Amino acid sequence: MAKRVSADCRKYPSKKKCTLTVSGSMAEVFPVALYHACKSHGHKNTPAFRKDLKKFIK
Ligand SMILES: [Zn+2]
Repeated sequence: MAKRVSADCRKYPSKKKCTLTVSGSMAEVFPVALYHACKSHGHKNTPAFRKDLKKFIK
């Protein structure tokens, strides 16, 4: 079984004070977190940001 990880928006400083958490396997969480970061927080989907995002998902 794949290890369950989560992306917790509360741990990421943002003006929106977002409280979203996404959990599941890395393969499930990563695209959702990336989509959310871009759509809701205005991040750019760049290789550098994807690398940072991977570190943020634990
Ligand atoms: Zn958020």
